[in-house]
Amino acid sequence: MGKLDKLQPAAVWNIFEKMSDIPRGSGNEAGVQNMFKAWAKERGLGCKEDAVGNLLVSIPGTKGLEKGAPVLIQGHVDMVCEKNAATKHDFEKDPLKLRINGDWVSAEGTTLGADNGIGVAMGLALADDKTVAHGPVEVLLTVDEERGLTGAAGVEAGFFTSTKMINLDSEQDDAIFIGCAGGRDTQYTLKNKSARAPKDSAGRKVTISGLKGGHSGLDIHTHRGNAIKILTRALQAAAEVMDVRLVEINGGSMRNAIPREAEAKVVIDRKLGRKFKQTIDACLKKVKAEELAGTDDGFTWKSTAVQAPRSFSLTSSKTTLSLLSAIPNGVTGMSMDIAGLVESSTNLGVVKTHGSKVGTVCCSRSSVMSVLEELVIQHRTIGELAGAEVVQPEGYPGWQPNMKSPILAVTRAKYKQAFGVEAELLAIHAGLECGLLTEKYPSLDIVSFGPNITGAQSPDEKVQISSVQKIWKLFAATVKEVAKG
Ligand SMILES: [Zn+2]
Repeated sequence: MGKLDKLQPAAVWNIFEKMSDIPRGSGNEAGVQNMFKAWAKERGLGCKEDAVGNLLVSIPGTKGLEKGAPVLIQGHVDMVCEKNAATKHDFEKDPLKLRINGDWVSAEGTTLGADNGIGVAMGLALADDKTVAHGPVEVLLTVDEERGLTGAAGVEAGFFTSTKMINLDSEQDDAIFIGCAGGRDTQYTLKNKSARAPKDSAGRKVTISGLKGGHSGLDIHTHRGNAIKILTRALQAAAEVMDVRLVEINGGSMRNAIPREAEAKVVIDRKLGRKFKQTIDACLKKVKAEELAGTDDGFTWKSTAVQAPRSFSLTSSKTTLSLLSAIPNGVTGMSMDIAGLVESSTNLGVVKTHGSKVGTVCCSRSSVMSVLEELVIQHRTIGELAGAEVVQPEGYPGWQPNMKSPILAVTRAKYKQAFGVEAELLAIHAGLECGLLTEKYPSLDIVSFGPNITGAQSPDEKVQISSVQKIWKLFAATVKEVAKG
């Protein structure tokens, strides 16, 4: 007897519970994929695996729809492994301890893996739930989504035959998702000249803290302060009225997070200590009052005296601050199709000093690939103008909203029919597997939807039972209609 035996739709919860017994952190999907191979074999379903470990399970159409239009249902089998400090759980060995609390299913002290286990279960449940009519279905079970989308990136052209696809990795049941952003990083390295600090100079350390930070895609429209940018402005203000030589500058910890803290050591004329502090304070007070009120009220700064016998040369210091000033940051464009959607953005995520080298990392995103390309060129040329070495590793593609998508029209109509209201149309300003799949299957027609999941990627993750039933209803109606072509 499983914990979820009484929940409806039974076929979905049954598969979800089976998955929850097998550890499946990103990179450790062999166990769950083997279970699904055996599961497919038991049912006489076609099942093939690709070089990176993705599975494709083929479910024939139901009576009368055997020759219907095929549809690809896609979800990722891996999950984020997070637990509370007090929880004893081995993510390599232990099954998740599922529990039901009112209308919600969660796991005791750990992530639940409803992201994206519930989507995977819905796709496969078409084989077990005999009440749903559908055409030929291909269920694509990808690996390693959470760490870097490498499963979806590894799907080769020709692996599946459907030209329409439903991704079930969304987490909000009143919306249909129709796009996501692609992304590409830029890494700058400035090689500075270092020199002994001039006679009669003094060291100062300026620290920026108390900012909220957040995800560099999903939170970029919130106007939260970027600690590196704010620090740079304060130092630039001082550099306008005196010589400011950098000793080091450091801030941020992840390319895809808005930096919350930053700190610089500088060398200034000993007699100008007071003026330095006044200039920094005046600049930052203004930023706090005019730009961060209401969004980052915790913002604070400090400037203290430190020892600094060496620094970068004045020219190198100016170039470093100029580069950090010139690098674009924040929202660079809004979508014309979807009100309120950030189309393009860039985040100055990390700056780090190693000896006399200053490294900077930026993360750019756009749902329009040509716009992303332009951002990438902009980053590169700014770096080149500053004489920095610029590296731009390969990025990942976005999924551009297509308001004329036939599968979107079907899904919207079925949503309205089932629930009496229009679904909201949303896109997300972050990566989804859909973007990568369109790279090898450019004409693939996609929508994404899924049940309400809250607290994903944390031990508070839970999925709403009534919402799974709602989405199942939409899913069943949509696959049936798609089969009719
Ligand atoms: Zn997911």
